[in-house]
Amino acid sequence: MTASATGSARFLIVGPQGSGKGTQGVLVAEAFGIPSVSTGDVFRANISGGTELGERVKSIVEAGDLVPDELTSELVRDRLSQPDASTGFLLDGYPRNQGQLDDLDEFLRSRGEALDVVIELVVPREESIRRLHQRAIEQGRTDDTEEVIANRLAIYERETAPILGIYRDRGVVAEIDGVGSLDEVTSRIFANLAERGFQPAADAAATA
Ligand code: AMP
Repeated sequence: MTASATGSARFLIVGPQGSGKGTQGVLVAEAFGIPSVSTGDVFRANISGGTELGERVKSIVEAGDLVPDELTSELVRDRLSQPDASTGFLLDGYPRNQGQLDDLDEFLRSRGEALDVVIELVVPREESIRRLHQRAIEQGRTDDTEEVIANRLAIYERETAPILGIYRDRGVVAEIDGVGSLDEVTSRIFANLAERGFQPAADAAATA
């Protein structure tokens, strides 16, 4: 269950690769009791599971390029149509460009919904690169090689960063300084969400 002024908790977390958005996104989703929907995780799971979808996207993901919008948007629509996402969800890594933003707007509008908060993790380029190299050593992800990292960051700067301007105009962007320890960044996110009237149910009960 979630507590907010509107009763819904529809969040998106955005940040360059290596910003820690995956980790922070899961923490927020758990606290609010909402499903975390990471398109990157879905693609990776399908690739390692050898599914038909995995076969289709493998070379694209390994090159750090974007999977076609149509395919990605359909996957997200299916996931958000599940009952557990009816009052809230946390999107991680989608939308990533203008086409996907338009697809998501159309889908949410058709249900009388909209994103409540876009959590933007702000991390300087050099720091993202440093963290991605660290992750490459620790996790051995096939898309964490030098060349692919550069491609993914370039795509982020060219296609993803601009869509933040659209959300900013709508007044839903929570800009969070993503430099610091995991706990520090988590605290900043929760403090900002609370200022906007979004508190996890347990906290809300404690302060009621
Ligand atoms: P991530 O874990 O979010 O960095 O995603 C890993 C990879 O999955 C990306 O480099 C893309 O190849 C693919 N991917 C994830 N999300 C999307 C998306 N919204 N649109 C297109 N491709 C995506």
